[in-house]
Amino acid sequence: MPSDNDGIMVILSSPSGAGKTTLVNLLSKKDNFEVSISHTTRQPRPGEVPHKDYYFVNDKEFRRLINNQEFLEYAKVFKNYYGTTRTPVINNLNRGKNVLFDIDWQGADQIKNKKLDYKLITFFILPPSKKVLLERLSNRHKKENLIVEERIEQFERDVLHWINYDYVVINDDLNKCYLKIKNLISAEINHGSKDYDLEYIRNHVEKLTS
Ligand code: ADP
Ligand code: 5GP
Repeated sequence: MPSDNDGIMVILSSPSGAGKTTLVNLLSKKDNFEVSISHTTRQPRPGEVPHKDYYFVNDKEFRRLINNQEFLEYAKVFKNYYGTTRTPVINNLNRGKNVLFDIDWQGADQIKNKKLDYKLITFFILPPSKKVLLERLSNRHKKENLIVEERIEQFERDVLHWINYDYVVINDDLNKCYLKIKNLISAEINHGSKDYDLEYIRNHVEKLTS
């Protein structure tokens, strides 16, 4: 059973480009939230800061971490490996810090299946439309058409995992989406009432995939 003094785990996943990293950064400014920094074998993007956005490592180092069983979860996403090391997460939770994870559905499944003794809330972020998703991806990956195409193609598969999450939130207006997530987390922690319409989400997913 989770103790009241322990932190909670909050996972945000989404199809690439829907805005989870932006939302995680906003949420991390909320009191008592620490972002879990993942290891990855992918190259840094312009503006990304090592040891803040990711620990950028090579394949050999990533394999060493796997062999030493240091990962709480890891997965291959878009040809690269990504993983969350266990020790910093558990240390933060035991110190009463809430930990935010920006990880994909494979990692979310692995953490869920571990049934750790800490409260876990999972969010899946969706874009308002495929058109907007394309705009956001094109903006983030300027002149990298192949990456944009690859991620749009992957969208069709990734979106199907929405059903395995506690909450699905549409990231149209950034601030409204942030407040929605913040309020749902507060309601979960304080056992308050939740403003959440599953039918609306189901219809939105149908529109996105039709
Ligand atoms: P993800 O982590 O899900 O791949 P990002 O957080 O990197 O997505 O967001 C993708 C792009 O969309 C970024 O350039 C980001 O600034 C932008 N973005 C995120 N949320 C919104 C929003 N609500 N409105 C407009 N642009 C957004
Ligand atoms: P990006 O390369 O755009 O930063 O991330 C690509 C995908 O990898 C995103 O869906 C992101 O959430 C996911 N990701 C980032 N870190 C991890 C991690 O540690 N584990 C897993 N499973 N996925 C991750």
